[in-house]
Amino acid sequence: MGTPAARPTVATVCRIDFGSVRLLADDGREFEASVPAKLRGARKALGNAVVTGDRVALVWDHERALVERVEPRRNVFSRRAAGEREEEQVVTANLDQVVIVAALQRPDFSHGLVDRVLVQCERAGIPALLVLNKTDLDSRQETEALLTEYARAGVTGLATCAVSGRGVDAVRDACAARRTMFVGHSGVGKSTLLVGLMPDVVIAQGEVNDVTGKGRHTTSAAVLYRPAPDTELVDTPGVRAFALWGVEAGDLVEYYPELEPLAGGCRFSDCRHDREPGCALRAAVARGEVGERRFASYCKLRDELAEGFH
Ligand code: GDP
Ligand code: ZN
Repeated sequence: MGTPAARPTVATVCRIDFGSVRLLADDGREFEASVPAKLRGARKALGNAVVTGDRVALVWDHERALVERVEPRRNVFSRRAAGEREEEQVVTANLDQVVIVAALQRPDFSHGLVDRVLVQCERAGIPALLVLNKTDLDSRQETEALLTEYARAGVTGLATCAVSGRGVDAVRDACAARRTMFVGHSGVGKSTLLVGLMPDVVIAQGEVNDVTGKGRHTTSAAVLYRPAPDTELVDTPGVRAFALWGVEAGDLVEYYPELEPLAGGCRFSDCRHDREPGCALRAAVARGEVGERRFASYCKLRDELAEGFH
């Protein structure tokens, strides 16, 4: 210690701990730093003040690193925090892309989650990739139809079988030299896929905090791994419910890239794309140019947003 190289002045947040942050230096060393009160939110919790993926500037107090400043974020992936209050939860900052992992079966494919995450990515300007896992269970021959439907929405899709490793190389290629966040319902095979992508890295399971007895990595925390010097994968806890943040019912169509250019073509400028005559969106669905299920999930999400639940 003592040389500048031994004490990094900048680092990347790889996970949020109870009251402190774990950091990854550019040379790959992992260490802990505390976050002074001036950077914390009103409730003293770290909240959104420092999140996984943040780049932070450090000062050192003897052997102890202190976060001095969070560098400006180039983007954030957010969701609405659980609970009654309208609150943003920043999940990860500074992403190159998001991989949505979904299963064909067990659990059944969910347009609800996939489309919500796509909307949130679109709003944040973060490219998204759909990984359809458990293709070995595709008794209904759905994989191709789903990939085609999402390709029409401008989303690249890949098919995998994480247990056999089929298709995993293509996911690894897509993640090379980027920072990618992984999100999916519990049970879709995200952990299996991540182990396949980085077999040498030990993936943190939901550890239990000694003080609170609560799962530490099971509720909100995202964990960043760096399996190669220029490649970072961010794991997030399995989702049960995903609520949108910062999207209004009236704006939702802007975040459906295949619907947005059509919206101006409806006969009525205030068309709700419901039963109105001359609806350009429904016409495109009828012609097979827009996926029926994507349109149905758009309508459902819009109605939910309009009614106030998300
Ligand atoms: P996670 O909750 O998304 O992290 O899911 P896991 O990786 O823990 O996987 C959930 C279950 O699905 C486990 O029993 C896995 O072995 C299984 N699984 C994962 N990938 C596949 C797959 O491609 N095909 C099949 N049939 N099962 C899989
Ligand atoms: Zn319309």
